[in-house]
Amino acid sequence: MSIRTVTAFTLGLAIQALAFAQEPPMQPLRPDQVAFRALYKELVETDTTVSSGSCTTAAEQIAAHLKSAGFADKDITLFSVPEHPQEGGIVAVLAGASKKAQPMLLLGHLDVVEAKRADWTRDPFTLIEENGYFFGRGTADMKAMDASWVDAMMRFKRGGYHPKRTIKMALTCGEETTYAFNGAEWLAKNKPDLISAAFALNEGGGGRTDGHGKIVVQTIQVGEKASQNYTLESVNAGGHSSIPIRDNAIYELADALAKVRDYEFPVKFTDTTRAYFAKAGAARTDELGQAMVALAQNPDDHAAEAIVSNDRSYHSMLRTTCVATLLEGGHANNALPQHAAANINCRIFPGETVEQTQAALVAAIGDSKVKITPVPPLRPIAKPAALNPEVIGPAEKLVAKYFPGVPLVPTMSTGATDGIFLEAIGIPVYGAPGGWGDPDGNGAHGLNERRSVRSVYVGRDFLTDLIKAYAD
Ligand SMILES: [Zn+2]
Repeated sequence: MSIRTVTAFTLGLAIQALAFAQEPPMQPLRPDQVAFRALYKELVETDTTVSSGSCTTAAEQIAAHLKSAGFADKDITLFSVPEHPQEGGIVAVLAGASKKAQPMLLLGHLDVVEAKRADWTRDPFTLIEENGYFFGRGTADMKAMDASWVDAMMRFKRGGYHPKRTIKMALTCGEETTYAFNGAEWLAKNKPDLISAAFALNEGGGGRTDGHGKIVVQTIQVGEKASQNYTLESVNAGGHSSIPIRDNAIYELADALAKVRDYEFPVKFTDTTRAYFAKAGAARTDELGQAMVALAQNPDDHAAEAIVSNDRSYHSMLRTTCVATLLEGGHANNALPQHAAANINCRIFPGETVEQTQAALVAAIGDSKVKITPVPPLRPIAKPAALNPEVIGPAEKLVAKYFPGVPLVPTMSTGATDGIFLEAIGIPVYGAPGGWGDPDGNGAHGLNERRSVRSVYVGRDFLTDLIKAYAD
């Protein structure tokens, strides 16, 4: 996950400047927290970038910890494919007592975005604790949650905890890099029985502070858009540029791109976004808040829609979006172009298909000479998970206990996680609340990534309780 999920969650608060407050120090750590910190440190300090790191190493380290906690070999599956030996992952299973209760799945990605030592203030692959924050690549996205999942599985096993539901954990590689090997996709396609579950918990939810250490909202992510690229292409016989004609591949493509810019996909809602706009709108006192509430009640309220769509995050939450991101064309300064092409990146609203989106682009462009082709990989259709009270209810209760007075708001991400691959095989995925970040995005994907120390420890306690609330 990245900063993409952050901006929409600030509710009535203005986004704070990049400053972040120092958080109060933790009390002396409990012995179980000391062990957890060591696990988190090992994960952060194991480089899992695609370029020079190894998810396989991280997965093997986790397997060793699980075994030391009492997991049998048969309950642990390490996997990788020969073409991507360093991009492996792990699945672990803690058997539940009930034959009737369906399993639940804890999902996480082990890989991290690239980090250049020279650009960072501190070494990105050393866990450094400073001013109430842990610094290091993956501290926020998403090794705190990974460590919480592994730690919970270990403590459950050691403590002889017998959940009703079977608890499964899948930690995979490739979430951060579109064209790398994606472990979640691979598991969904090749080992669906191994990871089958009534629902999964994943990244994408969580709390947000006001930028000064105060938590103002907790979110649970329910659904996301699907990212799909298309190539727009125009070809032409070309010729000498000294005798030009109007018929020109670059002009044709430019006209098509202007049409894409001007086309607005129709407003759509899922149960999640309807609840989001109603709840987040009601928490604001301004015109935008009123418009959000009005639009949630009546999707045909064009005046309200115009106000809400002024916010770029909300604009994207309301519809499919497509935008030009790359451009190429021509072959010489003094030649008429024989070829011009652009990449269009679409974020497809849940329930809509790659083909429907393509058809909408074709209609908007209205020029049969401009060819539109989806670029592999073709993403599965995003299926919104239901606002299932059996999932939302326990999360709400725990948020009230841990963060009194802080609302739990369901959100749909305009970005993408591995959740989409699980949803494609019928596993609804929820981005768990608990740990929190700051409005500036905590350097996730960027420089000097950090996670508040309290968020890491409290988030871990919260997630452990959340798993138990579902599994008991
Ligand atoms: Zn992530």
